[in-house]
Amino acid sequence: MPYTLEIKGLSKNFGDICAVQNLSLKAKQGEVIALLGPNGAGKSTLMNMISGYLVPSAGEIKVLGKNIRNYPIESKQNIGFLSEGAPLYPDLSVARFLDYMAELRGFSGFVRDDKVKKAAELAKIENVMSQKIETLSKGYLRRVGFAQSILSNPPILLLDEPTDGLDPNQKVHIREMIEKMGKDKTILISTHLLEEAESVCNRIILINKGQIVADGTLAQVLAQNRTKSLEKVFHKLTSMQEEV
Ligand code: ADP
Ligand code: MG
Repeated sequence: MPYTLEIKGLSKNFGDICAVQNLSLKAKQGEVIALLGPNGAGKSTLMNMISGYLVPSAGEIKVLGKNIRNYPIESKQNIGFLSEGAPLYPDLSVARFLDYMAELRGFSGFVRDDKVKKAAELAKIENVMSQKIETLSKGYLRRVGFAQSILSNPPILLLDEPTDGLDPNQKVHIREMIEKMGKDKTILISTHLLEEAESVCNRIILINKGQIVADGTLAQVLAQNRTKSLEKVFHKLTSMQEEV
């Protein structure tokens, strides 16, 4: 099976800060990958580069075999992105917002309506479609962002801290949606929550200071580090952060 996402030698500098350092990874359909790391590890920077929002300082990214630098529009169509604190338009109703986002992706008329309907169903937001975005609870806001990210049914989905700040029930909802879609997509979920990595993901990439420090199934990552606790692995491989 061909790789859906290929990243080679990727770096991003902000002045003196090296947020992502010479990072390489390959991912396939059906992989639900936890991009696990402490705050400041470079998770959002990595996702922002894959989505095309940030330009890398070095390295390359291929989406479905094509370099995103040469195929920026096609790549964006193949990637759904729920960014951290995704900007939503507070004045619009949920329905209007999703119509608008679908139009931005080039859909119109019945096709647009159908895309919006399917995404709303999956995200379970049908009951708030006529509500203004500014009146929604945090859980619903996240689900609207989620619906937006899956509008074009993209083969690659980037979810940046999708359950951050949600209560336990809301977390369960989001994780159920991720599980439903995981089989026929490549999903990259950035998180600093160990239980999220363990429960929804079938591959764990541990990232620290912009570099991959572990990569494999949960069982592989635990075995490599001779422990049964992901928390211990996380601590061992990321605790250098505080010593500086
Ligand atoms: P994470 O998402 O894992 O918490 P980030 O990718 O947001 O980490 O940040 C990685 C590092 O890059 C941090 O040291 C952060 O302060 C820095 N950084 C991120 N974005 C910017 C920016 N726009 N300008 C300067 N520094 C940034
Ligand atoms: Mg982040």
